[in-house]
Amino acid sequence: MDKRSWAEPYKIKMVELLKMTTLQERKAAIRAAGFNTFLLKSEDIYIDLLTDSGVGAMSDRQWAGLMMGDEAYAGSRNFYHMRDAVSEYYSYQYTVPTHQGRGAENILSQILISEGDYVPGNMYFTTTRLHQEIAGGQFVDVIIDEAHDPDSTHPFKGNVDISKLDQLVAKVGADKIPYVCIATCVNMAGGQPISLHNLKAVRDWCDQHQVLLVHDMTRVAENAYFIQQREPGYQDKTVKEIVYEICALTDAATMSSKKDAMVNIGGFLAMNDEGLYERACELVVVYEGLHTYGGMAGRDMEALAIGIKESVQDNHMRARIGQVEYLGQQLEAASVPVVKPFGGHAIFLNARAILPHIPQSQFPAQALAAALYVESGIRSMERGAVSAGRNAKTGENFMPKLELVRLTIPRRVYTQAHMDVTAESVVRVMQSADQVKGLRFTYEPKMLRFFMGRFTEVDTDD
Ligand SMILES: *Cc1c(COP(=O)(O)O)cnc(C)c1O
Repeated sequence: MDKRSWAEPYKIKMVELLKMTTLQERKAAIRAAGFNTFLLKSEDIYIDLLTDSGVGAMSDRQWAGLMMGDEAYAGSRNFYHMRDAVSEYYSYQYTVPTHQGRGAENILSQILISEGDYVPGNMYFTTTRLHQEIAGGQFVDVIIDEAHDPDSTHPFKGNVDISKLDQLVAKVGADKIPYVCIATCVNMAGGQPISLHNLKAVRDWCDQHQVLLVHDMTRVAENAYFIQQREPGYQDKTVKEIVYEICALTDAATMSSKKDAMVNIGGFLAMNDEGLYERACELVVVYEGLHTYGGMAGRDMEALAIGIKESVQDNHMRARIGQVEYLGQQLEAASVPVVKPFGGHAIFLNARAILPHIPQSQFPAQALAAALYVESGIRSMERGAVSAGRNAKTGENFMPKLELVRLTIPRRVYTQAHMDVTAESVVRVMQSADQVKGLRFTYEPKMLRFFMGRFTEVDTDD
């Protein structure tokens, strides 16, 4: 036999016990949570696939780093370690720590966006778009059409359609476009990568129109791994080299280090322009903290510096994405409709196809996530009409093409057996899909409504 399996490039040193619940307990829990998986208590969850944010397992070295925390108010040694890691692995010269990614988005949006501006991006992200809107801007989606099609198998669904950038500039003028925002491994498209070929074309476009290029680099290492696997000319480069090349094509970056970099909390804003750095320092003291800690403890900055290095190792990334792929393959083998190609951090279930009897106005993905929890104690997340929210100007519900449930895999946390149980549970929900009911809001928050919104089941005679 010539089979060569891969295995995790680590072994387990400590375990966290999980609680098992009964069907009755889970039914009561989801009602108490208003059918919103964000409102469930963690102790009532068996396998938690809500998010990959801040839930990764730190290495023994990162934990050791916590003990090296220098909790000085100003000039902590850990800040310099973090700054040096950012410039060594991500190329950016200046780093401003923030409490997490949205802290960096807030500062960047306030500095660069003026009332009436347009900010093109390769699909929106919830917090990113909101900060752009609060600063007076309007997000414009310039991702390729394939990204909105759950059945398209395009290898780089995160790519930008340059003609959409041209159309925007023809309509509003380059002076109304402060920057183009490019996410690597686009979360809302299903964890789909952008190619380096396309990113270079975006860079050229930005140079031609004198527009900045900002990088939402939350999952840059996962994007780099896909480039290594799929883009001609990159198979002999390391993830580390590709990460650096991606970053070096952009002017500034916002980072949620709770994802790729495997820490529980933290983020930063990074850039090469000194003037931009100075303005960011002026604002970070208002919203986050002094420019050498920005809302992070010294120990957390140390763990981040170590996590950055671990995140760009080829063997880490192979196991990381290999595990996500494994879950995708189990589901596909059982004929579950999933978004292809599989994403870097998650497998997305096509809720419209699984629950065809529920109209999108009754939030099929929200209902599917709730049903999966009741079935097995697995927590997932809605990524469809509830997450898309309402148009800030007209108040109308956005009705996105993608109505998905995200099974997000935390880094280095669960085993292959957990993935098997997850796939089996999804199949069981599908087998009794016709019993899942649509939902309506009983409480709808004005902003980011998916986090705290509450729902009730729609009865058929409603
Ligand atoms: C998580 C995330 C953010 C926001 O980061 P937080 O740390 O959650 O504030 C921004 N962009 C993308 C693509 C993300 O996934």
